[in-house]
Amino acid sequence: MSPWLVLCSAVFGAAAAAFVPRVAHRLAVPRGTPARAACARCDTPFTDWVRAGAACSCAGAPVWTVVAGALAAGLLGAAIGPAPLLLVVLPATVLGVLLAVIDIWCLRLPDRVVAALAGVTVPPLAVAALLAGEPGRLGRAAVAAGLSAAAYGIIALLPGHGLGLGDVKLATVLGFVLGFAGWPATAAGLLAPHLINGPVALALLASRRAGRRTALPFGPALLAGALLGLSI
Ligand SMILES: [Zn+2]
Repeated sequence: MSPWLVLCSAVFGAAAAAFVPRVAHRLAVPRGTPARAACARCDTPFTDWVRAGAACSCAGAPVWTVVAGALAAGLLGAAIGPAPLLLVVLPATVLGVLLAVIDIWCLRLPDRVVAALAGVTVPPLAVAALLAGEPGRLGRAAVAAGLSAAAYGIIALLPGHGLGLGDVKLATVLGFVLGFAGWPATAAGLLAPHLINGPVALALLASRRAGRRTALPFGPALLAGALLGLSI
């Protein structure tokens, strides 16, 4: 493990995550609604998407978003090391933080952000596998994506599970990345979200921040599970 690589990854993650709040605030809208054109709290019109720091001058500094970006990217830098996979997962981490923030705010994983995550991961990893003369790795990634889609698709069909189609789509993309990394990463990435979400739901219930019927976002657990899978 190179301390410089970890530091550079963490700094990249923190710097890129600083741009997440404005985009997240604009995209955290109900399904079928256009992106927010003004601040939901103070109605200040939004003229741009690219803004580092708070989503709006009325909001506080995005400390947790930046910390999450730094931790996730630093962990991946430490676990993956100087490999092509790191160049692919670092930009993906920023989209992951964006998806997690939007899901926490409005219980949605917008298709266009999940599609962007697929766009920055699937083609580069496919090319990397073929260039390295490892087509088997590409096959494993595709099988893992299919397994992930099937497993989460079945859970989403069960009554009272709380999983949406957005979760299934995200799990499919994450399954591809985990499959590229290997079967142990895939298994951990598939199982960990359930182990993460259970205690979080219990903690929210115990602190009365959520009731029995409160819908909880599953995207953050899926992303944290994938992070864990890639880090083992
Ligand atoms: Zn505002």
